[in-house]
Amino acid sequence: MAMSEFEIIRRNFASRGIDRGDVVLGIGDDGAVVRMPSGCDLVTVVDTLVAGVHFPHETRPEDVGHKALAVNLSDVAAMGAVPAWATLALTLPHADEAWLSAFARGFFGLAQRYEVQLVGGDTTHGPLTVTVQIQGWVHSGRAVRRSGARPGDVIYLTGAVGDAGLALRAWQQQQALSATDGEYLFSRLHRPIPRCREGEALSGEVSAMVDVSDGLAADLGHILEASGVGATLNLHSIPLSPSFVAVTGSGKYYMNEAERLRLALSAGDDYELCFTAPEAQCRRVEDIFSNFSCGCHAIGIIETAPGLRLRQADGTLLSLERNGYEHFAQEPGNAGN
Ligand code: ADP
Ligand code: MG
Repeated sequence: MAMSEFEIIRRNFASRGIDRGDVVLGIGDDGAVVRMPSGCDLVTVVDTLVAGVHFPHETRPEDVGHKALAVNLSDVAAMGAVPAWATLALTLPHADEAWLSAFARGFFGLAQRYEVQLVGGDTTHGPLTVTVQIQGWVHSGRAVRRSGARPGDVIYLTGAVGDAGLALRAWQQQQALSATDGEYLFSRLHRPIPRCREGEALSGEVSAMVDVSDGLAADLGHILEASGVGATLNLHSIPLSPSFVAVTGSGKYYMNEAERLRLALSAGDDYELCFTAPEAQCRRVEDIFSNFSCGCHAIGIIETAPGLRLRQADGTLLSLERNGYEHFAQEPGNAGN
């Protein structure tokens, strides 16, 4: 059944999810009006997901809705900010009610979890593209930038990396994984949980931070470049999930240690946080993470010499063919954000 643009908005997006007290005017007017807490800076992020580039065409609509919000929440978290308001620009090939209601379920499920209110958007006809913008806030002067890392700082990583990259490989090759590992790995690819509370807690506490969307090596590279420093990663300290280790340990996806690390360091879509802190802050960082189940690992050290060195357990250095996904590079692969 064909629906008008207004019908789509009314049925699927207006008056859904939570009702924040700081939203003066939400969906329905030419613009939304929100009230900032005093003493705070506004943080704004935007990310687009294009079907066939950022997610396979056959991805379930619920997962598209979840992920479109998740990748933006991850950027907010990487600034040390609290997410509050979202807008959604949706380009649809057709007005499919079943697709839209599943998409909205995924989107609002995650929005509810972090108390983010959808306050506006735009709906157009064309190839499936989802753009989400989130506004949030951080206490004035406490946003965490990429440029603050200094030689001697410890490099930390939340959670684990490589799961989404491995899941994408299995998805593309249509190879079955064991039920438990498959469920875990595919949820890491399709329904990433952004490290929102962790990011907020690190505001004003750490020297630099980035979210890992394009691959750890590439995203840490952004910190190094912005800060004018280099680093060495201790590869035996890179956290890998039990499922990642099990699936790459034998069978169809067997990888030797170097291959496994290359995948973990350069596949995109992890949505973990990578941050740096002076040694004197390390106790504080550990205290903060005692409240969070994702965990946080010290994986390396910031140095004066530019470049990223990947030290293996035997002391030799590992090389990567590529650091991560780049949209205008020639190779096909896993597009993060
Ligand atoms: P305008 O023509 O003034 O830009 P629209 O007709 O595009 O307004 O949208 C009407 C209202 O619906 C606006 O408040 C807009 O923010 C909201 N809106 C449109 N599309 C979406 C969407 N996909 N999700 C949420 N709100 C939307
Ligand atoms: Mg208008």
